[in-house]
Amino acid sequence: MIVVNRTAASGTSHKQNEAQVLTMSTTSFSKKTLGADQVEPAVTPPPAGSNTSFAPKPKMGAGKSRKKEIPEGLWTKCPQCEAMIFDKELDENFKVCAKCDHHFSIGARERIHSMVETCTFEEMDAEMISVDRLGFTGAASYKDKLISNWKKTSLKDAVVTGIGRIGEHRVALGVMDFSFLGGSMGSVVGEKLTRLIERGTEKNLPVIIISTSGGARMYEGMFSLMQMAKTCAALAYHAQAKLPYISILTNPDYAGVMASYASVGDLILAEPRALIGFAGPRVIKDTTQAELPEGFQTAEFLLDHGLIDAIVNRREMKQRLIEYLDFLMAARKTAVANA
Ligand SMILES: [Zn+2]
Repeated sequence: MIVVNRTAASGTSHKQNEAQVLTMSTTSFSKKTLGADQVEPAVTPPPAGSNTSFAPKPKMGAGKSRKKEIPEGLWTKCPQCEAMIFDKELDENFKVCAKCDHHFSIGARERIHSMVETCTFEEMDAEMISVDRLGFTGAASYKDKLISNWKKTSLKDAVVTGIGRIGEHRVALGVMDFSFLGGSMGSVVGEKLTRLIERGTEKNLPVIIISTSGGARMYEGMFSLMQMAKTCAALAYHAQAKLPYISILTNPDYAGVMASYASVGDLILAEPRALIGFAGPRVIKDTTQAELPEGFQTAEFLLDHGLIDAIVNRREMKQRLIEYLDFLMAARKTAVANA
């Protein structure tokens, strides 16, 4: 049995962390400039004795001195077509480049907001956090990593789960977030998803899991690997109740997650050009000593080879899900009636 640190959720240290998050974000925000003060520094040095302590001279050789001409936080450069996209436009377009269709990564909460009907999402186990059961230390300890990720992402772990409505369908929805420790699957991800699936079975709801992950969370050793079996066992009970499970793979989706719940959907969808696999291409190339085919491990390649059922653009995802759910839930009704 995997025991997940539920008791730790109400601990005071956690509250302190939240407070730290707030402090952090305020501090970093106040440092932002709006571009108006991006004036080239004076060539002549300030007169001797003037107070310059608030703006220390940059170290020689730092190489960054005259770079920031464009204000940050307004534009994003598309890595695929190199177009400069206004951030607001990118947000309105579900973080998809309007010119070349490049899918930028998107946070779990943003994604839920884009798919679920307004005010219908009831989050589950929002306060569940991981503990450093193995006392893992390395370049940074697991504890430190967790604290820095709580601050950085405002998430408690790499998945957000809950019950919400998509179109007319109530669904049990789990969405992973790559920004939290690379979307790695530890005890919390496994436990939250298992509870979500079990709730789905209990309430006769379809399950949708949108995954993005670098794999199992090695800071938790075997505890993270055991989540593969646990989530799949819960999905097997869900399937016995003739309920549909839709797995949506997003960029990137690798290793332990891909080798468990992400690849056992009744319907497996993927976003365009998402990289999907078990081991990364470099590892496979080094192991097999063979040239990999073009487009290896992309969603398009996997669709051609039968691993996934369809590639769906993020902008059309909600509508497509409604259509699939209409069909699958109608089929389930018939199956249950005939049983
Ligand atoms: Zn683009």
